[in-house]
Amino acid sequence: MTTRGNNLDPWYDSYAERTAGLSVSEVRALFAVASRPEVVSLAGGMPYVSALPRELVTGAVERVMRDSGPAALQYGGGQGTPEIREHILEIMALEGIRGSVDDIVVTTGSQQALDLVAKLFLDPGDVVLAEAPSYVGAIGIFRAYQADVQHVAMDDDGIIPAALDERIRSLRSEGKRMKLLYLVPNFQNPAGVTLTWQRRLEVLELAKANGILVIEDNPYGLLHFDQPAPHAMRSVEEDGVVYLGSFSKTFAPGFRVGWALAPHAIREKLVLAAESAILSHSSFSQMVISEYLRAADWKGQIDTFRGVYRERRDAMLTALDDYLPDLTWTTPNGGFYVWLTLPEHLDSKSMLPRAVKELVAYTPGTAFFADGGGRNNIRLSFCYPKPEFIREGIRRLSNVIDGELELLSAFAQTGPLAVDRSRRRVVAPPSSIGG
Ligand code: PMP
Repeated sequence: MTTRGNNLDPWYDSYAERTAGLSVSEVRALFAVASRPEVVSLAGGMPYVSALPRELVTGAVERVMRDSGPAALQYGGGQGTPEIREHILEIMALEGIRGSVDDIVVTTGSQQALDLVAKLFLDPGDVVLAEAPSYVGAIGIFRAYQADVQHVAMDDDGIIPAALDERIRSLRSEGKRMKLLYLVPNFQNPAGVTLTWQRRLEVLELAKANGILVIEDNPYGLLHFDQPAPHAMRSVEEDGVVYLGSFSKTFAPGFRVGWALAPHAIREKLVLAAESAILSHSSFSQMVISEYLRAADWKGQIDTFRGVYRERRDAMLTALDDYLPDLTWTTPNGGFYVWLTLPEHLDSKSMLPRAVKELVAYTPGTAFFADGGGRNNIRLSFCYPKPEFIREGIRRLSNVIDGELELLSAFAQTGPLAVDRSRRRVVAPPSSIGG
């Protein structure tokens, strides 16, 4: 439901046109239900912060307050402290990026960086190209700026360059203005897949040839399980990429610190936009993170997170093999998510109340499309529940799917669908679908 369109609201006629793009996040709407303790939530992407030893954080907080309390409690600048920007350079070097501290803009989570870039570039009707599926929080922002989000097909190797080329040509022939290409190249949210190095180069070529700015959103890159992800796209292209990073998944989202590494020409505008939005970022958060990075074995801590998430990924894949062997899903080599494809005739959104009744929650695939796609997909997060709960969650999900198929099967007695439950498939000649 959009915020406009509710005529019980006395302010209905006063809202700005652009609020028509504000819709209730399907993920957020779920949080209330999914946080009941008896529900196994495979829905939200909450990092497992309990794997971060508390004394590492409290030690950093205490030292910051003891040594630089007044500065930590004061307003700061719109670009971020020099200390944290130095640390950020060091972190990005792990993914092959060389840059200048001058071109880093600290933001209130990478979510704010996305918002600021969208604010700088998007007029109503401008096209943003994005993977199919794409991160729900990015789609929300692009919609809020009244952009036209166009999805481009992806497979297990990420976005498909030939499909991107074709889409760009057809949009150009329609006279559309294409401004941004939004990508999550590593362990994508929601599909879990990673863009290969060869494709990264091809995609950069296409973007450059067509004057499209790439947003490389990379909150999960360091959380790999087996092979490290290929180097960042920004490592080979400085002028055409805005790179976004975050401390939310490798440290803690509660501090709300992320960053953008922007082409020099864009950086100044980003700082001005940030200052006009929030004056300055939290000095306290930045100083605590800097102190943590200075004093703690943060690389060792990232290894700990990797181990936790790898075990949970394995638990999810094993449970899927055991309980839903006839379905297909992606096999992530890092990050938080598996993308599950249901039998064609199932609708993951309308199945959700049944799932919650069976005490399991997930995010319906439609949340990750701006065009209604993803109806028979589900995003499963393995980051938060312990392995045994993940297994139980998948077991419950298999019951839910069986229940839905049974319903369809009952409908098939009077309608045109035939259900082969043992193979979790609905068999229907295309001409009879919708009967
Ligand atoms: N981008 C992606 C792909 C994400 O998954 C998230 C968080 N779920 C964000 C950006 C925002 O993260 P934060 O604002 O916490 O840095």
